[in-house]
Amino acid sequence: MTIAPGTATDLQHFGMFIDGKQVDALSGRTFESQNPYAGEPWATIADGGPEDVDRAVASSRTAFEGEWRELGGFGRARVMRRLADAITDNAERLALLEVNDSGKLLREMRGQLNGLGAWYSYFSGLADKLEGRTVPQLAPQTYFGYTLREPIGVVGAITPWNSPLLLLTFKLAPLLAAGCTCVVKPSEHAPASTIAFAEVLHEAGLPAGVLNVVTGWDRSTGEALASHTGIDKVAFTGSTATGAKVAQAAVANINRVTLELGGKSPQVVFADADLDAAANGLVAGVFAATGQTCMAGSRLIVHESVRDELVAKVVARAETILQGDPTQADTEMGPVANQPQYDKVLGYLQGARDEGWTIATGGEPNDDLGGLFVKPTVVVAEHDATIAREEVFGPVLTAYTFRDEDEAIRLANDTPYGLAGAVWTKDVHRAHRMVAAIKAGTVWVNAYRVVAPNMPFGGYGLSGIGRENGAAAVEEYLETKSVYIEL
Ligand code: NAD
Repeated sequence: MTIAPGTATDLQHFGMFIDGKQVDALSGRTFESQNPYAGEPWATIADGGPEDVDRAVASSRTAFEGEWRELGGFGRARVMRRLADAITDNAERLALLEVNDSGKLLREMRGQLNGLGAWYSYFSGLADKLEGRTVPQLAPQTYFGYTLREPIGVVGAITPWNSPLLLLTFKLAPLLAAGCTCVVKPSEHAPASTIAFAEVLHEAGLPAGVLNVVTGWDRSTGEALASHTGIDKVAFTGSTATGAKVAQAAVANINRVTLELGGKSPQVVFADADLDAAANGLVAGVFAATGQTCMAGSRLIVHESVRDELVAKVVARAETILQGDPTQADTEMGPVANQPQYDKVLGYLQGARDEGWTIATGGEPNDDLGGLFVKPTVVVAEHDATIAREEVFGPVLTAYTFRDEDEAIRLANDTPYGLAGAVWTKDVHRAHRMVAAIKAGTVWVNAYRVVAPNMPFGGYGLSGIGRENGAAAVEEYLETKSVYIEL
């Protein structure tokens, strides 16, 4: 993607979405969004800056103190139920925008978008149940005490290029239920769907200013939002390195912060596991979305007695994965989403070769397809390989072995991350022991990649701070006020 004057007439244009309408950047500048499959720009996007962030924050503040507050919990719940239906009605169009921006599979995005309404339905059910408590006072009872739950205020949301609308929804559904408003800054690599999404929600009844979208090509837009003194909380999803900077900016203003960051999630396979089911789970766990998911199960930690058999099964499946046009129904894997990410993945694969590890399959670009295609890759290595330790964010599984349960636990936890993990075994006792021992926010048993609106999601360690999803996610957007009344 390059900065361009935005004069091309054959490209779709997306303004920022502020105060209920698309607007251009105050500077008048635009940048181009690249379709990674076609290898060419498909849209121009408003190239905003700090001055645009200022007006978006001001609009969200007005909405927070005005129309959105006046609706109350019952009114917000009513609006949110309408949003759920509108998202489903527009799922196909929104899915196509994500495919254009990121090269993800249309059928996968269609499924994801059709599922998003469930988040707004679920959290609408909490919007009218935000109750404080009456609190018994110490004797003598001269005071009546109770608590109130109040929305934090204006939330600055910053999202990455993989699944922009799902990851925005993890923030937006609970913050709307809490009564907050939001300014979101989507990734410069995939901004279009968020703008169209805000428009869809506004047309479905979300008052102007409750959700504003600012876009920008360089870091200054995100930096301006994270450090803005007019917001009350930052909710960030992205890399751990950026998350640390965003958290520093938020804390400098004593703002609340939620961070959903990177991962290097283990899939531990015991010798008694159903190896065919495990192989299917490994393939879905690491190759879905071309490996570009925070929860990718990118480390296979397998009992030494079944390593060769399991790796052979995974390799056989990986080699049948059909790569190609993400809009075609039979395509199983699209391109890597953008040039910097493609270069990064190939760099890790070269590094694995340089360190002397075995590439069991893949390990190179798919030259037949051109574009940014990398073949589904399985590397057989040791636990200290660079490719086994760092987040690749591409279609790469790294396999290594353990001898007993203690070693499996040690290797699974031998990472600074802690987003997710899985255990494959038929032994229910061992499954429970492993679930308790793995340091991660989500652990699946004989499954992978299930995420639901009513189950908390978030990371231990370098994978983040706070939780999204689940009823408690609303708490992340509420303040508690204590009230004493003299009797
Ligand atoms: P990134 O950190 O490069 O960018 C994320 C967002 O931050 C983008 O909108 C970007 O423009 C913005 N940004 C960049 N620098 C900034 C700054 N200094 N101040 C404020 N904002 C700034 O991440 P990415 O490459 O877009 O996404 C991939 C990463 O996201 C991976 O590490 C992945 O694991 C992580 N991720 C985590 C989750 C999760 O829920 N835990 C989900 C998806 C992706």
